[in-house]
Amino acid sequence: MMHKPQIIDSFGRAHTYLRISLTDRCNLRCFYCMPEEGVELTERSQIMTLEEIVAISREFVELGIDTIRLTGGEPLLRKNFAFLIKELSDLGVTLKLTTNGILLDKYFDLFEETGLRKINVSLDTLDKVKAAFISKRDYFDRIMENVREGIRRGFEIKLNVVLIKGTNDQEILDFIRLTKHQNLNVKFIEFMPFKGNQWDWSKGVSEQEILKTVTNEWTNLQTLQSSVHSTSKNFQVSGFQGSFGIISTITHPFCEGCNRIRLTADGKMKNCLFATQEFDLLGHFRTGRKLTPLIHENIQSKKFSRDGMNLEMDAKHYELNRSMISIGG
Ligand code: SAM
Ligand code: SF4
Repeated sequence: MMHKPQIIDSFGRAHTYLRISLTDRCNLRCFYCMPEEGVELTERSQIMTLEEIVAISREFVELGIDTIRLTGGEPLLRKNFAFLIKELSDLGVTLKLTTNGILLDKYFDLFEETGLRKINVSLDTLDKVKAAFISKRDYFDRIMENVREGIRRGFEIKLNVVLIKGTNDQEILDFIRLTKHQNLNVKFIEFMPFKGNQWDWSKGVSEQEILKTVTNEWTNLQTLQSSVHSTSKNFQVSGFQGSFGIISTITHPFCEGCNRIRLTADGKMKNCLFATQEFDLLGHFRTGRKLTPLIHENIQSKKFSRDGMNLEMDAKHYELNRSMISIGG
């Protein structure tokens, strides 16, 4: 049963999309995501159990959440992941997944059974050597094979590409060429600042630079209609089967239509990707209380854009946030 959206912030934005991080562990070490020295892993007892994830999700669904995206760390590392997917699919929401793709082959059958069709795979380069440099691990062939298999089986696959100057920005056109004969969406993501990721915008590639590179190659670019909640602007080269999008969080944030709420693996609610304030839903849940008042209180404190962070002046702001690996994107 669909529930009326009730999680509404002071700007009138109704929140219907919940992103849940299942773990802060990962089998890759992408340098833009994780501090070089690693992150302190959360103790198991402080991580939501699968039953807790389902119960907390149920309360969110009663408040109008209709979409749940599972992320991490690497969500497919979570033990008994299949149990969780089955339980969540019974809640009647649209389920989505963001993964590095390494373990996808183990789960395609389950996804077909449970109706999870939308999968974002992080793939920053089409070059095996570069992939090992970026992620400090060598899983490129396996990931590529899984992406191909996902497309072959008809899943809606998006590739997430974080562009870093001098590392993978020469590959923008190669990524778009992948969309010529395949129903694939490539999402270019502007490099964002998080705790310990040594962010420096001079390493970032802006929406404007991406579009300049693309329009120098193809003049027949179409702008696609996007939903008001979309985090990206979407385009298609005329005649290509797939499409590409740009997530311009730094140069043109997409906050106006934001409908997203985040839940970390240790059960903290964040009303923005950049929020430094967190509300301890899990602690509350474990004392047997309803979460709804806390959820409303959190959403009322949501700022209009990027938690009020001013990127030019405010390095302290993002250093007070978590590392991306423990938020989940
Ligand atoms: N491990 C999964 C994966 O890589 O898809 C899920 C978690 S990962 C934190 C979610 C997304 O965040 C990935 O697409 C990743 O590329 C993106 N991401 C991580 N650090 C980022 C950064 N500094 N700026 C922009 N996107 C980032
Ligand atoms: Fe792991 Fe994903 Fe972060 Fe890479 S981007 S380190 S795969 S969580």
